[in-house]
Amino acid sequence: MSKKIVILGAGESGTGAALLAKAKGFEVFVSDQGTIKDNYKAELLTAGVDFEEGAHSAEKVLAADLIIKSPGIPDKAELIKQAKAKHIEIIDELEFGFRYLTGKVIAITGTNGKTTTTLLTYHLLKTAGFNVALAGNVGESLARKVAAGSHDWYVIEISSFQLDGTKTFRPEIGILTNITPDHLDRYEYKMENYINSKFQLVQNMTENSHFIFYEDDAVAGLEVTKRAITPIKIPVSLKNKASQVHFDGTAMNFQFGSKTFSITQSETTLKGPHNLINTMAAVSAAYQAGVSVEAIKAGLKTFVNAPHRLESVATIKGVEFVNDSKATNVDSVVYALGSYTQPLIWIAGGIDKGNDYNIIKAEVSQKVKTLICLGKDNTKLKTFFKDLVPEIKETQTIKELVQMALASAKQGDVVLLSPACASFDLFKNYEDRGNQFRDAVLELKRQVES
Ligand code: ADP
Repeated sequence: MSKKIVILGAGESGTGAALLAKAKGFEVFVSDQGTIKDNYKAELLTAGVDFEEGAHSAEKVLAADLIIKSPGIPDKAELIKQAKAKHIEIIDELEFGFRYLTGKVIAITGTNGKTTTTLLTYHLLKTAGFNVALAGNVGESLARKVAAGSHDWYVIEISSFQLDGTKTFRPEIGILTNITPDHLDRYEYKMENYINSKFQLVQNMTENSHFIFYEDDAVAGLEVTKRAITPIKIPVSLKNKASQVHFDGTAMNFQFGSKTFSITQSETTLKGPHNLINTMAAVSAAYQAGVSVEAIKAGLKTFVNAPHRLESVATIKGVEFVNDSKATNVDSVVYALGSYTQPLIWIAGGIDKGNDYNIIKAEVSQKVKTLICLGKDNTKLKTFFKDLVPEIKETQTIKELVQMALASAKQGDVVLLSPACASFDLFKNYEDRGNQFRDAVLELKRQVES
């Protein structure tokens, strides 16, 4: 009789795991407490996978030999406790995918910068001609990728929730971008638990593999010095010139054995100090994977980041319009403001999740000539910035917004949508806000130039 696998949660990772489990000949049952999206349902039906939705039937779930659970289901969920009491093995889709892959893994985790670093690393390997797949939080699940075919390399974006469910998962190259308090509700409000989770990245790594981390990060940098870490460490720094990979104020410098090389940010398509960190990490990973410096430099010139992250949309009458709609908190705006030296027309507002605008006060008063508030209730922004910014405007429509912005700008200025707030008051989500902004800017460009 074949082994029974029960998959809890039928999102991208659950469906991917089901397809892989089915392909490997297991008896598979998928159970989702909510509604399963039509596209995933169709895939399960086509693959002949048995499933239920709306509730978990405990009897069926607890009859499993192996449970693969969605990273969103916490260990303290009643069903998980019962399964544990029955000594049923419980893993995550990432672990399951890893057990069947034949290539090597580059795994990227951290509180911020995961997507950019993952996409860039993938791009550097891909444009160098490597047989590489992209998986994890960005795009398709690892299990789905493994079910679909084999690759020499897998570049995977991983959240801490996913790392919690790993056992044998062992990257060849691991990247940790930073650790700042996040999702602490999942970790009994103990930062230490969250840190331990992130460090699961290196738990099985061997002494020939490479662990790349951002040394200046207050938490990650210190933890690395306190822990016994087996892989070869590659610290990345924005300020420590003695560091193997560092930014010296002008260029990013890399030293790997006797090989040294430098790259300036103007040779890349990314902007801002945070992207220096992401670039240094991705370049280090690509180099360790065997990509030549020439190919790395060529790849850096053609990289296009995911949308809504300091995305340059268009230039109208010499004014550049930038979509940074992903910046839903004030920390992200710090990086956005730090990425430009030109005068700014800054667009902010929406649902404030407890922002402390003091951290951007100095930079805003130095660079921002006009603040345009894009929210239902803009009182907090207007009150805070009224004496710091020469002009404050307000609107709730995107069409008016882009016209207002252009009217306030002079040639050479930058219009920056970096809202510091969630978007739900006026938009479906940050993507919707960014997409509407992009469309309106392109429409304005057509009108102005016709
Ligand atoms: P993630 O996938 O971890 O959310 P992204 O690459 O999508 O990360 O970037 C999200 C936002 O986080 C960016 O808009 C930027 O404001 C900020 N960010 C990106 N890289 C870093 C970094 N290395 N350190 C701190 N913040 C960063």
